[in-house]
Amino acid sequence: TGINFEKYDDIPVDASGRDPPAPITNFDDADLEPLLLENIKMSGYRVPTPVQKSSISYGRAGRDMMACAQTGSGKTGGFLFPILNESFRKGPCEPQGGDGRAHYRSRAARPIALILSPTRELTSQIFDEARKFCYRSWVRPCVVYGGADIVGQMRQMERGCDLLVATPGRLVDLIERGRVSLSNIRYLVLDEADRMLDMGFEPQIRRIVEKEDMPGVDSRHTLMFSATFPRDIQMLARDFLKDYIFLSVGRVGA
Ligand code: ADP
Ligand code: MG
Repeated sequence: TGINFEKYDDIPVDASGRDPPAPITNFDDADLEPLLLENIKMSGYRVPTPVQKSSISYGRAGRDMMACAQTGSGKTGGFLFPILNESFRKGPCEPQGGDGRAHYRSRAARPIALILSPTRELTSQIFDEARKFCYRSWVRPCVVYGGADIVGQMRQMERGCDLLVATPGRLVDLIERGRVSLSNIRYLVLDEADRMLDMGFEPQIRRIVEKEDMPGVDSRHTLMFSATFPRDIQMLARDFLKDYIFLSVGRVGA
């Protein structure tokens, strides 16, 4: 939407926190997993946006991130690229913890990455991008949101769900029905965090992130994105992130 991707270097970017790793400069020299690089190129992306340059480098260093950036700054790639780069490199993992037989019999999806987003439209957009970047990889994306047939969504997840894009309310519902387990989560993303709070999702978000089977801050990577950084978002960042890098791109409102 009217964004000039060649002019991104003019946008002020500021990273604060303990020793932020240097951003990557372009997709080709970033030592990305070959399949991810191929899928990025196939999607028509030539130059990474500032959020993407930083997040790829932070992801590799295993650092949490709170990024404030306006609409259109490429935040979707900003979380998908570091998640997929690490996931393609590591390959699928065996389910962690608990009784293997119980896991085998349970019908719960055990995604390694969870992306929370406020609306049906936004989750669908993220899912469409994820499908392109996961193409021909072992990572199977799924999407769930409210106001749509839950049975169809459960069936979709039964076919395999490694990366789940969800609205908070529908995800709580699926967790309560035993259809999603959080025990394998390695990557947690809160996209449009300020909008999710404006829509009243804080209780659902807290129920998800503070659920007993969700790996704690030390055993997952958490990325938060928000256009603004008011007090309630600062609190969430304090509770959900560990030793995080604060990235601001362009002018950020309070
Ligand atoms: P945000 O979530 O910050 O609003 P998006 O990730 O939705 O931004 O990206 C906005 C638009 O720009 C989308 O159409 C997306 O496909 C495109 N886009 C994002 N990053 C790049 C890039 N590096 N090169 C080309 N197009 C991009
Ligand atoms: Mg977005």
